[in-house]
Amino acid sequence: MTTSTAEKPAESHVFEADVARLLHMMVHSVYSDKDVFLRELISNAADACEKLRYEAIANPALLAGDTDSRITISLDEEGRKFTVEDNGIGMSRDELIEALGTIARSGTRAFMERIEADKAGEGTQLIGQFGVGFYSCFMVADRVDVVSRRASADEAWLWSSEGKGNYRIAPVDAVDAPARGTRITLHLMEEAKSYTSRWSVERIVKEQSGHVPVPISIVVKPGDEPAQLTDGTALWAKSKTDITPEEYTDFYRGVSGQYDEPALNVHFRAEGRHEYTALAFVPGSPPFDLFDPDRKGRMKLYVKRVFITDEAELLPRYLRFVRGLVDSADLPLNVSREMIQESPILSAIRKGVTSRVITAMEKLAESDGDAFIKLWEAFGSVIKEGIYEDYERRAQLMALSRFRTTASGEGYRSLADYVKNAKEGQTAIYYLTGSSPEQLKASPQLEGFRARGIEVLLLTDSVDSFWVTNAPEFEGKAFKSITQGSADLAQFKKVDGQAAASEETPSDIRGFIAFAKDKLGQEISDVRASDRLTESAVCLVASEQGYDRQLEKILQGAGRLQSAAKPILEINPDHPMIKALAANTIDSSLREDAAFLLLDQARVLDGDKPIDPRAFAERLARLMERALPQ
Ligand code: ADP
Ligand code: MG
Repeated sequence: MTTSTAEKPAESHVFEADVARLLHMMVHSVYSDKDVFLRELISNAADACEKLRYEAIANPALLAGDTDSRITISLDEEGRKFTVEDNGIGMSRDELIEALGTIARSGTRAFMERIEADKAGEGTQLIGQFGVGFYSCFMVADRVDVVSRRASADEAWLWSSEGKGNYRIAPVDAVDAPARGTRITLHLMEEAKSYTSRWSVERIVKEQSGHVPVPISIVVKPGDEPAQLTDGTALWAKSKTDITPEEYTDFYRGVSGQYDEPALNVHFRAEGRHEYTALAFVPGSPPFDLFDPDRKGRMKLYVKRVFITDEAELLPRYLRFVRGLVDSADLPLNVSREMIQESPILSAIRKGVTSRVITAMEKLAESDGDAFIKLWEAFGSVIKEGIYEDYERRAQLMALSRFRTTASGEGYRSLADYVKNAKEGQTAIYYLTGSSPEQLKASPQLEGFRARGIEVLLLTDSVDSFWVTNAPEFEGKAFKSITQGSADLAQFKKVDGQAAASEETPSDIRGFIAFAKDKLGQEISDVRASDRLTESAVCLVASEQGYDRQLEKILQGAGRLQSAAKPILEINPDHPMIKALAANTIDSSLREDAAFLLLDQARVLDGDKPIDPRAFAERLARLMERALPQ
């Protein structure tokens, strides 16, 4: 059936605002590597072929006798045109409008903000990941025509745009459209005409898309026969020894949409009870959606080479950064996407792949410490989620974890290193949580530990506050926050050989403690002498029960805790200022000001504000007035 274009004139549509903004960026892009547009078009064409294969399982009529997927690139030097055609699923009119006129994915705004602040060409790396791949063709074309016919549909549609704010949609004569699928024609800009040269296009395709699972052919000039560039065999089905590192990297780039080198690759075939092949990569740098609230992974599930879904959650959430695929020989081809989650075959696969990925990371940690630290810096904060989510592998994940500690310098330490370095009689693994190593290193709470040479983990990821309270122990030692409860440091000798402060708190100090408790009783639960302070006068700690102070702040920030517990104010009995206050030679009102100022000082050191900024300023002013010459 033919539809006459004369009957229905082209309708003009305006791009959604975000698309317009994105297009503007593409056109004026600073990307040095324009070749990526070709990878994006090929990847879309391959996706379309895989979608068709999947839909045809339930509805074979869609194939209409044409069962071989293919992608064809056609060059036209004279006409300065570049065409990519596929015989995949195709798009209806509504799908064209939806897919090429809007941006469906939520991460887009964040993406654009990142490109606008483009650091060192980072944008190029991000295009593929954000699902804005199609628009990259406006980097090289000043007009793009997309002719598409949905599988088994009679009518075909033309989408056309100069990439400047609007696009047109019109029906096209059936003879001018592919029998099924999509043909995208780029009218190349003058400076992009090299994309009509056979050799450069061949090189780019082989380099970027050599392992796309659909064969790619090229028609060098109008009227020529197509010549095959790649055969579309699945890389993962080949034996490991036949695959070069470059081929792995190329495949990784295709499957992840990232353009860096993978940090790790895991390729194996499982035989026996369940038969499947897995090819998985740990990326070289964090994917943009690593901290999306849905925490979804993107491992693809294939069944006998047919792509089924990338929502099968083939790995636990704490490995969501891993990219790649599993090809199962056991699952039925017509498995519904909904059924997959429940399948026992899938849970066996999930277990097998998870183990192999973790083992590969362990091996890397052993064989190449620097490479592992790079991986850890990118993904450690996510892997640590597994310590409280995956009980079975908790010990393994804790052993894999690396930390900044008071003994690590610029480097990292493992918990095994920590335990080796523990003091005689030390039963706990001490930690301090906060927002940055610098802030933590300045904490007064650390002083007593430092003075005794006791190592403390410095934890700065927000996930840390959760796993430490969930992980009972490592090699028999429990985790203990140094800002919670009593420090019990008296049993450990100071490094400089100084005798520990007298056990008994002197009576004048006790007097000041009672005074401060009386005055500050609204704000704190207790005042006591401290053994964790050596230089500072005061610090705040949480009581033995309840939450660590940092976790309390996080929970409050997330609205999951109504009110914080009152902390304990610890004072350093050896500090000259505390001694002077204890001597009790000043009038009570000044002593009261001093007690409040000490509390506020402890709060500020914790990264908080004084309780009552106005009262704080007044007290400070009164004190300065006294100190300054009249
Ligand atoms: P993504 O591929 O990440 O979804 P793109 O910008 O590359 O983002 O493509 C947007 C959408 O346009 C695709 O999701 C798909 O629905 C549609 N599309 C693009 N190219 C084709 C094609 N050759 N065949 C069918 N649909 C396509
Ligand atoms: Mg795409």
